[in-house]
This record gives sequence, C-alpha cells and structure tokens, in this order.
Amino acid sequence: MDCIFCKIAAKQIPSAIVYENEDVIAFRDINPQAPVHIIIIPKQHIATLNDIKPEDAQLVGKIVLAAQAIAKDNNLQNPGYRLVLNCNKDAGQTVFHIHCHLLGGRLMGWPPG
Ligand code: 5GP
Ligand code: ZN
Repeated sequence: MDCIFCKIAAKQIPSAIVYENEDVIAFRDINPQAPVHIIIIPKQHIATLNDIKPEDAQLVGKIVLAAQAIAKDNNLQNPGYRLVLNCNKDAGQTVFHIHCHLLGGRLMGWPPG
C-alpha cells in the first residue's frame, strides 16, 4: 500500500519517533505548527475517521492514551495541549491514514482555522 504513514510505521521512511507500543506509533510532524507538534497513528491502516468500525474502539482509545502519555513527557498536562483529527477535504486532511495531531507549547486560538 502506497501510504506514507504505513511506511513510517514500518520504519521504511525515517521519522523522529517519540512513542511506540504494539498498536500505535507517534513521531514529530515534519512541518510543525507549534513548539510541540506530534502525529499519533495506529499501525493499522485506516484511511479516514469515516472508516473506523465499532471493533476499532479500543484502538482509537489507545491513540488518546498515547497522546496523554506524550503530553506528560513534554510537561504539557498543565498548561494544556490540543488534539486534532482532520477528516477529508474540508478539514484539510492530506494524509489518508488516520492520525491525531498533538499540539502544544503555545496558546491555541479558538475557533480553529
Ligand atoms: P493532515 O493535514 O492530513 O491532518 O496532517 C498530515 C500531517 O502530516 C501534516 O501536518 C504534515 O506536516 C505531516 N506529514 C506529512 N508527511 C510527513 C512525513 O513524511 N513525515 C512527517 N514526520 N510528517 C509528515
Ligand atoms: Zn497507511
């Protein structure tokens, strides 16, 4: 499968990995939008949020728990951080392997762009 995030998960493409377990891997975004900008993905390929099935519920939970651990590692629990999941064109999804952005280290604006 020609998916850049599958290749990162398989370590066929190098990335700055910050967290990994059996199901999930996280690495620094190549084009960071905040002092801390980490991408958390399932190792399993799922194209968009629309494709998540009820049996993936535990896997999705593991992504959020990974984010929590990474936020702690980066001392972001307080003052806080933001998780972003983009789905399809209007949200600006550019890589079609689901991923959670962890953004922190600066004050976030609201509403998001
Ligand atoms: P999306 O816009 O799909 O929600 O986010 C995709 C993110 O992946 C972008 O923030 C982009 O900078 C990041 N990205 C795309 N290709 C690569 C890559 O090859 N390596 C890394 N580390 N990040 C990537
Ligand atoms: Zn993939």
